[in-house]
Amino acid sequence: MKRIEDIFNSEQFKQALTFIEEDREHTLEQQITLAQIPAWSNHEEKKAERFAEMVKEIGYEDVTVDAVSNVYTVLKGSGDGPKVLITAHCDTVFPLDTDLTVRRTPDGKICCPGICDDTRGMAEILSILRAVKACGIRTVGDIIIGTDVGEENLGGMRGIRHLCKTMPDLDGFISIDLPNANALTHAGTGSLRLKIVFHGIGGHSFAAFGIPNPAYALGGAIARIAAFKVPETPKTTFNVGVVSGGTGATAIAREMEMQVDIRSNGKEELAELERKLKAAVKEAVEEENARWESPDKLTYTIEVMGDLPVAPQSGDVTIARVGLACLKQMGIKHEPNPEGASPTDSNMAIVSGIPAITVGRGGIGGGGHSLEEWFMPVDEFKSPQRTLLILLALVGLEGVSTPILEKREKKSE
Ligand SMILES: [Zn+2]
Repeated sequence: MKRIEDIFNSEQFKQALTFIEEDREHTLEQQITLAQIPAWSNHEEKKAERFAEMVKEIGYEDVTVDAVSNVYTVLKGSGDGPKVLITAHCDTVFPLDTDLTVRRTPDGKICCPGICDDTRGMAEILSILRAVKACGIRTVGDIIIGTDVGEENLGGMRGIRHLCKTMPDLDGFISIDLPNANALTHAGTGSLRLKIVFHGIGGHSFAAFGIPNPAYALGGAIARIAAFKVPETPKTTFNVGVVSGGTGATAIAREMEMQVDIRSNGKEELAELERKLKAAVKEAVEEENARWESPDKLTYTIEVMGDLPVAPQSGDVTIARVGLACLKQMGIKHEPNPEGASPTDSNMAIVSGIPAITVGRGGIGGGGHSLEEWFMPVDEFKSPQRTLLILLALVGLEGVSTPILEKREKKSE
């Protein structure tokens, strides 16, 4: 794309590239500082506040902390261009009492739960903000840039849900939330997490023998689930991740519980799997009730623990094409993932009608969502450089390039 080349070859952008590379130590320091602030989903205010301070320290006076603790500033454009929101999420999966002391290993790994996902993304946002300020970059359209809360399981996407609701005039959204700078996805994997509890009256294993047993119903349900056949395309998966219940070998349990996660890149496939799952549970309970001549029947309850809608979006949308073209321009070889889909904040934007992509964080890392999460700063500055190029291509760089991203037709207009 000619306009991406123009931006890439402009003096301002070259300056920004140099700036971001020279800013890498500062960026890493902030990543480490932020990673050590507990930010379990729904308890991330402190980390969000510190991030807001860091944005102010760069020289942005107008920093918004909204009703749910999302933090952002607006880089106002010069003209009537498109409006793009970009965030990295603030929350982690780690409870508040998790030890977040940073450890360094002899081979150069920086270890801390949450050091990559998505604290690295937050630090990259700060580096971009510094580059924009230092290099006097002026855009045509508006960039709303910051961090959002509640992306992980327990957060229920509350941050991005709130942003999509309060900013209905967005023309595009970028989430920085994949493990590598060469990653870019344009569609959203959907998921449903359920807690299923089987209830009985319980009793002594010998004296009360002959009543329906919640453990057998649970076992019957799992046997059925294990035999499910799912399509390879769109990728569709199921998992029984937690099984618990009972008090001891000599007692028929009153309750048995399982937690199940089902996922798909296809809307209908996910809905079909949900139907099959619920039918399996119902059948297993009926079978167990019919097995014994007892008036004390088992019952069951299903609780939704998490629900992320499938967000299909063609790879042909402008924001995705621009994203890939920018990777290429930066000399980063795109590593496509199956079906171009991932489960991130972008799901909510896409289902709200806002074109969206998710891009990767820089550096090398591993152990995501585990206490062993680690990060290594190898070429990590290339990620914020790439993200800045995508942003400028989408909203336009004043005096160099007009915006490539179209403005959406808004219903209210
Ligand atoms: Zn994440």
